[in-house]
Amino acid sequence: MDTVTRQLSNLTASTLCLKSKIRHRLVNIKDGIAGRKATRAHEVTHESWHPWQELKRLQVQENVPKELVPKPTWEPGIEAGYRPPYKPWRYYFFSLVQWHNETVNVWTHLIGSVLIVLYMLHFHDTMDYLNNPRAWPHLMLGVCSLICTSASGVCHLIHSKSAFAHYVTFSFDYAGAGIYGLGLGTCILFYTCDKDMVYYFGRLFLPILVVCCATMCFCICYGKVKYSLHHHHRRKMWFVISTVPPYACMFLMGFPRYVRCYFLNPNPDPVDVQSWHLHRYHLITFFAATFFFVSHVPEIYAYGEFDMLGQGHQLWHVFLVCTMVFQLYATHYDYTTNGERSPDVLANLPGYETCLYVVGILILTDLFLIVCASRIARQVVDEEHHELPRCAGSDTVDHQRRREKRSYLEASTSPRVLRKSTILQRRVVIRKL
Ligand SMILES: [Zn+2]
Repeated sequence: MDTVTRQLSNLTASTLCLKSKIRHRLVNIKDGIAGRKATRAHEVTHESWHPWQELKRLQVQENVPKELVPKPTWEPGIEAGYRPPYKPWRYYFFSLVQWHNETVNVWTHLIGSVLIVLYMLHFHDTMDYLNNPRAWPHLMLGVCSLICTSASGVCHLIHSKSAFAHYVTFSFDYAGAGIYGLGLGTCILFYTCDKDMVYYFGRLFLPILVVCCATMCFCICYGKVKYSLHHHHRRKMWFVISTVPPYACMFLMGFPRYVRCYFLNPNPDPVDVQSWHLHRYHLITFFAATFFFVSHVPEIYAYGEFDMLGQGHQLWHVFLVCTMVFQLYATHYDYTTNGERSPDVLANLPGYETCLYVVGILILTDLFLIVCASRIARQVVDEEHHELPRCAGSDTVDHQRRREKRSYLEASTSPRVLRKSTILQRRVVIRKL
């Protein structure tokens, strides 16, 4: 009997012990859930967007070597200082105030835009852009220059988001370059070229220029999308060859005036001489800018030495802004000395309001071309990242982005790439020592 009683009491004790263990475990689980909820709530409150906190948090983001960014964003001779891809968009906007290999590229265009606005305000005193239609071509040059520098600055700021974003943002950059070319050509037509050229080509020049600038935009976008992965020199050839027709048109319209002045006239007109002196400056800076853009000097001769400062693209930006400012000055001089056209010259020129139409037409054409270029870019990115099969009819933009991101992450964590990046980081450390 005693034995049965002892066994019953043991059983009761063990049951009580089990109950207490289960209760204890339940309390722990509840605490865990509550703790996790609290942490999540804490994170959510911290995630509430505040510019200064965001800035402080993003400042600790480190730059990465080129092996850890998508291949289309690589630049010849630039080995490190890239921003990591696939961050939120606000990271790239805040990177305006961080030190990476695009900082100077963005700021050169930002400062250039401010300079152009200041010069336009300065010229507005004498030209009265709003009430004087004769000054509209000059206003158009200023606005088109602003579009070019702004589009390029924003492009350099946000293009590192992904390979696809890189292609699309640079398409806007090239469209800005085409619009700037149209602004310059219009100014040359109305102010710089002499009456014989106006007589022969006054009505034809702007339509031809619009076609040339739109073709230039498409060719540069196509070259960028098709050849930036494997044939860098071919991409540059597409750029150089496509810029020849619009600039050749402008050159042919403006140059005969100076040929006549220097070679056919024994007593050159001082106005023409002074005009040539002013135009000479922007021609020199433009050729210098093109040289640095195409050649990637000096970084091509010292890989990794000019990643942050002194790279050829930064010099291209600086010389391009100088070119724009010199063009504003030179065309302003032509406006004051040669802009007052006689009625027979005006009869062969399009109306001043045509400036607005041609810019509008070119902007719409460029937008259409950018959409085409984006579709080609999506195909190229998909071919490059062909890791997942596409689901016919259900492959949304989100799926495509996820596929691209996953491919990048797989590629960047592959042993080969990690080994290369470690070697590169070691080299950088050794160089610093
Ligand atoms: Zn640029």
